[in-house]
Amino acid sequence: MALDEASPVADDKIRCDACPVMCFIKPGAVGACDRYGNVDGELVRMEPHIVLERTLEHGGEVVPFAGSREWDGEIVHQQGTFITAIGAGTTYPDYKPAPFIVSSEVDGVDMVTVVTEGIFSYCGVKVKIDTDRFLGPEQATVRVEGEAIGHVTTGEYGSQMLSLGGVHHLTGGSKKEGRVTCDALLQLSNGKAVELTIDEGETVIVQAGKPPIVNGIQESRMRVGCGSATIGIFAKQWHGKVDEVVVVDDHITGVLSEHQAGKLLGMAGTGIKLKGRRSTPGRYFQVAQPGTGWGGTNISDPLTILGPFDPKVAYPGLRLLMVSTTGEHAAYYELDENLVPVEMQMPQPLVEPVERIAENCEPALSTVLFIGGAGGSLRAGVTENPVRLTRSVKDALTYVTCGGAPVYIWPGGGITFMVDVTRLPENAFGYVPTPALVAPLEFTMSLTDYEALGGHMDAIQPLVSLKGGSRLRLPQRPDNPWPLAPEQPRRSLG
Ligand code: SF4
Repeated sequence: MALDEASPVADDKIRCDACPVMCFIKPGAVGACDRYGNVDGELVRMEPHIVLERTLEHGGEVVPFAGSREWDGEIVHQQGTFITAIGAGTTYPDYKPAPFIVSSEVDGVDMVTVVTEGIFSYCGVKVKIDTDRFLGPEQATVRVEGEAIGHVTTGEYGSQMLSLGGVHHLTGGSKKEGRVTCDALLQLSNGKAVELTIDEGETVIVQAGKPPIVNGIQESRMRVGCGSATIGIFAKQWHGKVDEVVVVDDHITGVLSEHQAGKLLGMAGTGIKLKGRRSTPGRYFQVAQPGTGWGGTNISDPLTILGPFDPKVAYPGLRLLMVSTTGEHAAYYELDENLVPVEMQMPQPLVEPVERIAENCEPALSTVLFIGGAGGSLRAGVTENPVRLTRSVKDALTYVTCGGAPVYIWPGGGITFMVDVTRLPENAFGYVPTPALVAPLEFTMSLTDYEALGGHMDAIQPLVSLKGGSRLRLPQRPDNPWPLAPEQPRRSLG
């Protein structure tokens, strides 16, 4: 895309003013972010501008769409074509109207989509890593190439969570810290793998939509639940086949005979003793240290979490199953004459219930959510009265998408949005070396609402007039709602 703003300078260089860096670009070269180049004296956005096509035509017929093809500017159905911000370009300073403010008619309603690649100094990614394995203590620093780029945050159910990036690491540390942070965020947002090391913890390779790799071992299963939940789910299937079951878990280890599930099944006490802190009957905390062994603990021998059996209750021949929350680890024991557990081959009737735990585990994945604040100066490219855009988004009159993908808007002030990066087309994110991430954003609303919020009415161009430039047509993902559906601008964004 040629921009009017490109200003010629000496030696045939042109000056890009799409971000604060203001690169001078030689003929045939690209600027510091690789996004803009000097092509025959014109400032050109180097990647094609992505246009989404709705594959499900009216009438429910699925139109085959083999790969991508260049868009020749012809609009067959206005409501079947959506102009994304990917490759649309950036305007700077922000008071300039966004690169594209496109009008179209959808089911008799005049709509406007404001399209811009926003520059985000305030942004980061939240990473959910489906694993029980201990990756590092909460608040521990997460590093790439030795640079701090984020920290471990509160663990969730079956997943470890990281908070990466943010303005502190992008701008508040050394130049290298900012550059490495920016690059890691870019790679993760574009679906690439990044190796992270955690202080006092482990090394993990994370890639959106792919299994995490912890210390070189690919994780396959997400646990079925905590130790107590696993008891609650499978108690009936163990009943009668074994006298005691311990489900080893770093957070809540479960003991079947003491657990309410075992009580309701009429199971007798076994005189078992667990180390750690008893919370409620059959539920124990802190039986071991966190680690990468059984159930996210540091143990490789589960017997180390047991004390001696009570001789008044236990008896020789007592059958004991110990299993982890993914079924990855399991061992069967019987008590000998001295009431010491002796490992034996797993009896056949117990094989299936143990395999059932593994069967009920979902595949372990890494999830990357990009989070950015669009409540700043970017809004001036949409309207001369930015707070009205914020209100319009909060009132669900304006529908926000990121590269055509749905976003979650945080309640409260500003327009802080999160998006699952796997729902965008490939390589939708960019960067500028300020450093900051570049993310596509589209604001869609009715023409009437756009005028009411003080939009740049003079800059509106009809969709049918968009011809020329390098544009690429891609099919919209079937699981993403169509951004131009008439109900979208007024639907709840929560
Ligand atoms: S970093 Fe990129 S967007 Fe910024 S001035 Fe240079 S070429 Fe233009």
